[in-house]
Amino acid sequence: MEKQFELENSVHIPSVGFGTWQTPDGATAVDAVRCAIETGYRHIDTAAVYGNEKSVGEGIARSGIDRRELFVTSKVWNTERGYDTTLRAFDKTLADLGLEYLDLYLIHWPATAHRFEDWQRINADTWRAMEKLYHDGRVRAIGVSNFLPHHLEALMDGAEEQPSVNQIEFHPGFMQTECVNFCKSRGIVVEAWSPLGTGRMLNNETLKTVAARYRKSVAQVCIRWALQHEVLPLPKSVTPSRIRENLDVFDFELSSVDMLTIDRMEYFGGSGLNPDKIDF
Ligand code: NDP
Repeated sequence: MEKQFELENSVHIPSVGFGTWQTPDGATAVDAVRCAIETGYRHIDTAAVYGNEKSVGEGIARSGIDRRELFVTSKVWNTERGYDTTLRAFDKTLADLGLEYLDLYLIHWPATAHRFEDWQRINADTWRAMEKLYHDGRVRAIGVSNFLPHHLEALMDGAEEQPSVNQIEFHPGFMQTECVNFCKSRGIVVEAWSPLGTGRMLNNETLKTVAARYRKSVAQVCIRWALQHEVLPLPKSVTPSRIRENLDVFDFELSSVDMLTIDRMEYFGGSGLNPDKIDF
């Protein structure tokens, strides 16, 4: 049975989200989102920069589901940081999705010292816009993505609202323990992007051995492993059988030994995107 995560403001999030990065705009995205909702997903993760918000919105509309049953997340892209630009970016996202409100809006990546002398101020300005959207009731929760503890500390210092979510890369071979623990200690729910390492997990021998023990796939083990760490996975697929498979993770539990085996895996399959070093 699918459980839900609870945010600090008592908003609930369905515990497996449906990812849409690299899902081509047009019929593929419409069909994937519609298929996901028909399969039982109630949580869709998108972003302005994915270039498919209109199709994601169309998939939602065509599914015929009651909007209130869905949890929809989007993100403000790096070129739109700042107060006014973030407010405008939100309006465009909402219009593209064809929705009246969002459930969660995230700052996609922090401005950092690598590119900006006044990175704290830039993030604070963006965050003030997020707070306004939240106070105006246009979004049910606000958060960040790819923020490391030092970015979060700077943001939270002086903020009126605390981020309720941090969406970061999280999969076997790259579990970012320090960041996860920091978030949990502050009541910030962690979401796992690339829970399958954009597919790079799938042929790993250790994961295959664990998966065989439960008669499950490696993808299901990765998703289950995130859930058992109280981290919310966002698997992406455009393939109906995989979309189904990735939600079928509530009838088994990884043993503590298998959890530890996966936890102890050496670094592998990471995207290599370090928020303090990226050039976009
Ligand atoms: P995943 O880690 O979910 O991996 C997706 C890949 O694995 C696709 O190639 C997919 O193929 C394949 N796949 C999915 N399920 C299965 C399965 N059961 N068996 C075999 N192969 C499978 O991908 P993403 O990197 O897209 O990350 C997930 C989501 O996280 C994104 O879509 C996005 O919403 C979010 N994200 C957020 C970021 C951020 O900066 N905040 C950055 C990156 C991602 P196919 O589709 O062909 O079926």
